[in-house]
Amino acid sequence: MGETSVRGNVVIAEEREIEEFLNRLFPIARSLTGEGNRETFRILQEIIPLEIIEYPSGTTVYDWTIPDEWVIRDAYIKDSDGQRLIDFSECNLQIVGYSSPVRQKMTFSELAPRLHLLEGNSEAIPYRTSYYNRDWGFCVTGVQYEQLREVSGLLEVCIDSEFNPEGSMTLGELRIRGEIEEEYLVSTYCCHPSMANDNLSGLLTTAFLARDLYREHTLQRSWRFVFLPETIGAIAYLYHNEREMKKIRGGLLPTTCGGNGPWGFKESFLGDHLIDRAVQLAFKDRCIQPIHYTFVPDGSDERQYSSPGFRIPVATISRDKYYEYSQYHTSLDNLDFVKGASIAESLALYRDVVRILDQNTCYRSTVPCGEPQLGRRGLYPSTGGGINQPGSGETVESELNAITWLLFLADGNHDLLTTAERSGLKFSDLLRVFGQLTVSGLIKPILN
Ligand code: ZN
Repeated sequence: MGETSVRGNVVIAEEREIEEFLNRLFPIARSLTGEGNRETFRILQEIIPLEIIEYPSGTTVYDWTIPDEWVIRDAYIKDSDGQRLIDFSECNLQIVGYSSPVRQKMTFSELAPRLHLLEGNSEAIPYRTSYYNRDWGFCVTGVQYEQLREVSGLLEVCIDSEFNPEGSMTLGELRIRGEIEEEYLVSTYCCHPSMANDNLSGLLTTAFLARDLYREHTLQRSWRFVFLPETIGAIAYLYHNEREMKKIRGGLLPTTCGGNGPWGFKESFLGDHLIDRAVQLAFKDRCIQPIHYTFVPDGSDERQYSSPGFRIPVATISRDKYYEYSQYHTSLDNLDFVKGASIAESLALYRDVVRILDQNTCYRSTVPCGEPQLGRRGLYPSTGGGINQPGSGETVESELNAITWLLFLADGNHDLLTTAERSGLKFSDLLRVFGQLTVSGLIKPILN
C-alpha cells in the first residue's frame, strides 16, 4: 500500500468517526443549561478527558447572573382527537428555548401569537430562544401552521418545563500544558440544539483538535480548550479565570465550519495579530482563498474575550459562516447539509493554524558573520552551480531556498511565521528544514 493510500485511509477513518459523533450529538436538546449539555459533554469525553465545570444558578458573574437551570421534559400541541400535531420529541427546535411551562386548551387564534414561523420557507422550523425574558412559544413550519389553523376545536397545548434555581450551568474544559507558560485559547459554544453547522461542527472540530494536542508530546505552548454556552458561558468562564485569562496570547473560535460552501476567515479585533497571520498562512499553504471578514463586534464569544478588560485577539475559520447560509438557525441546518468530510477539512486547517502558533519561534544563527559553509555540513548539494537550473530537482531547490531564508533571517528578531511570509515557502516545509538546521547546530531557537 502506497503512502498516499495509507494517508487516505486515515482521513476516511477520521471522517467516519466525526460522522458517528455527529449522528449521536445531533438529536440532543442543548440550551444554556440543562441535562442536554451534560449528555453532550459525556459524549465528548469519549474523545478527550474533558473536565466538567458547574456554575450554580443565581450566582453573579460581572454584570450577569447565571440563569436558573431549564428542565425540559416534553412539549406538544394536540388536536381534539389527541393527535400530536407538534411534537418536541420529534424535533427539539419546535419550542422557543427556555420556554416557561404551560398546559392549556385554546383556540388557534389564541395560540397564533405564540407561533413563530419563517416567511418564504414553508418547510423549515426557525430556531428561537427567550433566555432572559420568561416567555413561551412554539416554532413551526408554514405547513404545520396551516394544519393548526385548520383545526376546528380547541388545541391542547403543553410545555412540560421547569426552572430550577438550585441548578447550574455546565461547561467543559481541557488544559494541555506545553513547554512554556504562554497559552492559547480555543473556545466553542455548546448551547444550540439540533443544528449541525451551528454548532455541532464547531464542537466536533474543537474536540478533535484538542485530541490531537492531547496526544502530542512536543507542544511548545500551552493550550486551553473550552466548551461553553454562548455569551453567559464565556462571561462566567472569564469571571472565574480572570487572572489567567488576562495572560492568554490569542484565541481561535471554531464555529459553523461544517458546510461545503465558501471558506471564511473572520479576523481578530487587531486584524494583524499573530493569530490573523497564522490563519492566513494556513489558508495560503493549502491554496485556499477564503472570504475575509474584517472584525465587527457581532458573531460569537470573541466579543467577550476581546472586551476591554481582556483584549484577547480571537479569529474564526468557518465554512458557510453564520448569518450567511440559507439554512442558518433553522431545522434545515441538519445532517443532509453537514457531513463528517467537511468538518474533517476544517479540522485540517485548524490543525495547521495551531501548529504554526505552537511551533513558531524566533531563532538565531550560530554563524552570523557571512554565510555558513553548507557543503562542509552536508547541507548543500555537492555539485555547485546546479541550483536554479533545470533538472536540479524541485525538492533540492526548495530545501536550499528554505535553508538560505532561514539563515538569512536568523538574527534573533525574526520568527518562523515571518520567514514563511517573506519567503513564500510552506510553513510545514520550513519547519522541517528548521529542524535540520537546529540539529546541525547552525540555528538556535529562542523560545520565551
Ligand atoms: Zn447560532
